[in-house]
Amino acid sequence: MALIECPSCNKRMSDKADTCPHCDFRVAGATPEQRNRELERLLQAKKDKILGQSMLALLIAIAAFTYFFIQQPHPESWQSSAAYGAMIVGLVWFVLNRVRLLFLKRKR
Ligand SMILES: [Zn+2]
Repeated sequence: MALIECPSCNKRMSDKADTCPHCDFRVAGATPEQRNRELERLLQAKKDKILGQSMLALLIAIAAFTYFFIQQPHPESWQSSAAYGAMIVGLVWFVLNRVRLLFLKRKR
C-alpha cells in the first residue's frame, strides 16, 4: 500500500482506496476523462457554493442599506450601528467570495 496525492484536494490518501477520504473524489477505476469530469463537477459545486454565499452577502448588504434608507434610524441608535455593521459585513463577505472565485478560476 502506498500513499498518493488526491488529484482534487492534494491531500494524501491510500492508492487502494476507491474514493478520497477528504473530498470524496473517485480515484479507482476511473479513466483520465472520467477523472476530469469528476474534477469539473467538484469545481462547479464549489463555485456554486461560493456564488450562493456571495449572493447571500450581497442580500444582507442591500437589506441593511434599504433599512437604513427607509427607516433612517438615529445616527447614535443601536439600529443605526447594526445597519452599518451588516452593510460592512455583507460587503466584505461579498468581496471575499468574489476573490475566492477568482482564485478558483485561476488555479485550473
Ligand atoms: Zn481529495
